[in-house]
This record gives sequence, structure tokens and C-alpha cells, in this order.
Amino acid sequence: KEAISVNSLSYSYPDGTKALKDIDIVIHEGEKIVIVGPNGAGKTTLFLHLNGTLKSKDNTVMIFGKNLGDMKVEERIKEVGIVFQDPDDQLFMPTIFDDVAFGPINMGLDEAEVKKRVKKALSRVGLEGFEDRVPHNLSYGQKKRAALAAVLSMEPRILILDEPTANLDPKSRADLIQVISGLNKDGITTVIAMHDVNALPTLSDRVYVLNRKIVAEGTPREIFSNS
Ligand code: ADP
Ligand code: ADP
Repeated sequence: KEAISVNSLSYSYPDGTKALKDIDIVIHEGEKIVIVGPNGAGKTTLFLHLNGTLKSKDNTVMIFGKNLGDMKVEERIKEVGIVFQDPDDQLFMPTIFDDVAFGPINMGLDEAEVKKRVKKALSRVGLEGFEDRVPHNLSYGQKKRAALAAVLSMEPRILILDEPTANLDPKSRADLIQVISGLNKDGITTVIAMHDVNALPTLSDRVYVLNRKIVAEGTPREIFSNS
């Protein structure tokens, strides 16, 4: 089953910057995909197309066989969750509970279900009991995990992570890689942008190398034996 299908996607920003050119990507349900590419390669721009923040015309982006452009916000958030690189972009409420509950509340779920989802999401990322903590006071690694929990609570089938391991100490990095790997084992399709090639074997079945265009695609072994 195709989770994501991108068909000849090109995108230029309003100022004329050509960010993406003829991108073709097919990701199957349950796959773990890493997208590597230098700064400015278009990774963030691609991700913004995968959750519908940036609109593409025609059938350029399909999510589980549906044209993303035709999906309502409420539909999209159940399919695609994005965790941005900077957790401060995602944590803006007074407590961790409020941040992780934000998505489920907006989905119109009842209070009991919201609480259940917050508890489950926090436990998945190893932050059990953090409900009453103040986001600002957490360590950077804890913030990264809280931001992930705030997306997981919406229970998306596809999880997109932008540089999840950037700026983390080795222990926090290893913890987060374990968490993400566990989510994929539970059936969530994961798409990750990263530079950290050491984590590639754990986090990818397949790698796309992006530099405005897709310049290579293959298993981690194939990609790195050619480079
Ligand atoms: P990343 O961590 O994905 O490499 P960047 O550092 O490239 O992110 O970009 C950070 C933010 O700055 C993004 O929100 C991006 O949209 C914005 N940005 C990047 N380049 C430009 C630009 N030339 N003009 C305006 N905004 C930009
Ligand atoms: P990456 O995430 O791989 O670092 P981005 O998708 O952030 O790459 O950026 C791709 C290109 O688009 C870069 O040249 C960047 O400067 C440019 N860019 C990003 N955001 C904007 C924006 N809001 N306006 C203009 N150019 C942008």
C-alpha cells in the first residue's frame, strides 16, 4: 500500500528561489525512509508539501491514495504528523499536558480520550508523569521528545521528522533513535531528514538523496558504497 506518492513535484518560493525540481517519491506503508541532503537542499520544503502546508497542484502529492490537496485539515492531521527540528516551534503552552493535548482537543475528542492519548504519547517517548511540567524548563532532549509526543497524540499513520537527532548529546540521541525505531516497528511509516549518517542503518530501509532534485535512491548500503 502506498502511504506517500509524490509525482513530479516542483516548487519555487514567491521570491523565485527554486527549491524543488521534478521530485518523484513513493513510500510504502510501514517503510522507514531517510532523506539526506545538504542545507538548503529542499528537505523542509518537501516536508511542508507532505503535510499540505504548501499546496501543490494536480495530483502531485497523494497520501494513502488520496490527493492531499483535496483533504481537509482534520483529515490530514490523522494521516501525517510533522516534528520540526526546533522543539520550541512546537511547545507553546503553559504545561506539557496542554501541549500534548492540543492536537487531540482540536480533533474534537472527549476529555477522557484526550487524557488517555496524552498519557500514551508521553509514555511512548519516555516522559511518563511529565503532564504538569513547564516546557521551558525541560532539557533540550526532553523538549525534543515532548514535541514528538505532541504529534504522536494525534496518532498519525505517517510521521515526518526534521533532523530529530541534531544537537543532542549521544545518550539523548540514542534514546530518541530507539523511540523512533519502536514507532516504526509498531507500523508507523517514518520519514526522516538527517545528517547523522551513523543512525542510518537503524532508521532507514531506504534513503533518498535530495539536492533540489532526487539525486540518488537506494538502501543505505547502496547509497554509501557509491559516495
Ligand atoms: P533547515 O533546518 O531545514 O535547514 P533552514 O535553516 O534552511 O532549515 O531554514 C529555517 C527557516 O528559514 C525555515 O522556516 C525556512 O523556510 C526559512 N528560510 C530558509 N531560507 C530562506 C530564504 N532564503 N528566505 C526566507 N526564508 C528562508
Ligand atoms: P533544507 O530543509 O534542506 O535545508 P529548505 O527546504 O529549507 O532546505 O530550503 C530549500 C531552498 O529554499 C533554500 O535555497 C532556501 O534558502 C529556500 N527557502 C526556504 N524557505 C524559503 C522561503 N520562505 N522563501 C524563500 N526561499 C526559501
